[in-house]
Amino acid sequence: MLDKTSNQNKEQRISSFLELQGQTNQAPYLIDVEKAEGIYIWDKAGKRYMDMIAGVAVNNIGHRHPKVLSAIQEQLDKHLHVMVYGEYIQDAQLDLANNLASILPKNLSTSYIVNSGTEANEAAIKLAKRFTGRQEIISCKNSYHGSTHGSLSITGNKEKQSSFKPLLPQIQFIEFNNIDSLNIITEKSACVIIETIQGDAGLVKPTLEFITALREKSTTTGTLLIFDEVQVGMGRTGKFFAFEHYNIIPDLLTLGKALGGGMPIGAFISSKEIMHSLTHNPMLGHITTFGGHPVNCAAANACINVLKEENWIKEADEKGQLLVDILKQSEKIKEIRRAGLFFAVDLGDENLVAEVVKKCLDKGVIGFWFLSTPTAFRLSPPLSISEKEIKEVGKTILECI
Ligand code: PLP
Repeated sequence: MLDKTSNQNKEQRISSFLELQGQTNQAPYLIDVEKAEGIYIWDKAGKRYMDMIAGVAVNNIGHRHPKVLSAIQEQLDKHLHVMVYGEYIQDAQLDLANNLASILPKNLSTSYIVNSGTEANEAAIKLAKRFTGRQEIISCKNSYHGSTHGSLSITGNKEKQSSFKPLLPQIQFIEFNNIDSLNIITEKSACVIIETIQGDAGLVKPTLEFITALREKSTTTGTLLIFDEVQVGMGRTGKFFAFEHYNIIPDLLTLGKALGGGMPIGAFISSKEIMHSLTHNPMLGHITTFGGHPVNCAAANACINVLKEENWIKEADEKGQLLVDILKQSEKIKEIRRAGLFFAVDLGDENLVAEVVKKCLDKGVIGFWFLSTPTAFRLSPPLSISEKEIKEVGKTILECI
């Protein structure tokens, strides 16, 4: 009887979810979440999932890290929203800006805190246009930069763009890792925006030659180089920022996702000189009511502190390799592309991917899709995952394959 009631309840909840909440996915996961802690999520029936996605590269320090929770609580006791961004001096915002400056190179010391990754990218391309006085933007094929109109315009995915035209004009696309394609960057280009390591393209790393040539071409043409590290920043790839792997420093950096330790936030970051061009012609060049929300900034600040204190970023590569070594035992896996604890497990077959992801979910391991690479599934577990948990996950995935 109990089971029947809870089943009815579940069906009702699914039907309300599908009817009352706007949907964009034709086949959502429908995990009915009760609570989350560390690398685990529990549903309302008490089933435990190992979260190998971390809310799509958000929960890098695990769910509900105690230091994030107490920072949020402390901020709740002080104040919530008091003013639109950039008018009042607020501890949480200032501490976060300070903390970001402490982990970034000198020319990336001025942060503007916004609400999301897509807003960070929108604002970054506006800033590049304003600073250079140029209109043309260069982006990259197979990229993903967000879903609002400006970010969609620079997202190199024709299918995702097709129904939403007209998009921003004067955007051209280079090819990732194709040095010849950099010729379209000229004195007319305001900026090049690129994911330092492409995520939704199925995890593609830049060659050192390509990223070095990109930096040089941007510098010689006076084009601002923007690295979008919304997905690969905050330790995901085994360094605080993915550009550290290549010793190439951008003029602008965008962050989001994991920055907030589980709270919604984004940031675009540059030198003071570049950033302050938003203060005139026109004044208030980017405005946001909730950007830099004090509770989210307090959480982000705690998140950076946790990443500084723990050894998780340094361990990401070794842990990542451990999972690769386990998964390599399966002949069905065609290729594993990896950066730290970010994986594209390529099975070379869309249907097989769908089956494996579904089976893993049944067995309590959450994996997820890539937007533009249907033959692979993605794994991006919390960096706090232990070796024992990695072995358990690896064993389950092998069984499912
Ligand atoms: N940029 C990259 C590289 C992303 O992966 C994403 C989201 O997946 C975004 C930007 C957009 O971030 P948000 O969903 O917070 O708007």
